[in-house]
Amino acid sequence: LSNAEFVRDRIRTVPDWPKPGVMFRDITPVLQEPRSFRVLVDIFVHRYMNQGLDLIAGIDARGFIVGSVLAYELNLGFVPVRKRGKLPYTTVAEEYQLEYGSAAVEMHTDAVQAGQKVLVIDDLIATGGTMVAAIKLLQRLGATVTEAASIIDLVYLKGSDAVRATGTPVYSVCTYE
Ligand code: IMP
Repeated sequence: LSNAEFVRDRIRTVPDWPKPGVMFRDITPVLQEPRSFRVLVDIFVHRYMNQGLDLIAGIDARGFIVGSVLAYELNLGFVPVRKRGKLPYTTVAEEYQLEYGSAAVEMHTDAVQAGQKVLVIDDLIATGGTMVAAIKLLQRLGATVTEAASIIDLVYLKGSDAVRATGTPVYSVCTYE
């Protein structure tokens, strides 16, 4: 079993959640078991060590879990990309469209310095809307987003294609076709 397969085996699929017809990919069993949590984090550590990164940006909320331990292991700082209305200091926001209505991601205006090389990470790429908004936000703050990383890519939704179309490479540990 490869390390990625070891992780994949512990991802739980919950049918019809949060609504009928949706197959929710649940990473909590991966995190709960110490070996799979370590294997998961180590996959990212090995990929991103010695890459000259300056910062890890994790997306609210499951992107914080892997993003923060990855930053710690690589001896880098961590910055949150948060959902609207959560950050206390001056913020910059990027709106994106949902199936019904819109959402926004926000960052502190001083979270990134111009020219910093940033990896952005989340648990899962579905339509790619969240990841694309996060990348645009980071770029507006002057960051060079070297790659977008996720544990899971729902390839059939073509979100990772949308992310690549921004010019940012994508890496995912597991894919669902
Ligand atoms: P997107 O913006 O459509 O790509 O949706 C990605 C965001 O929704 C990420 O922040 C995910 O945490 C969350 N998400 C969407 N579908 C799932 C799922 O099946 N499992 C876990 N998170 C999901």
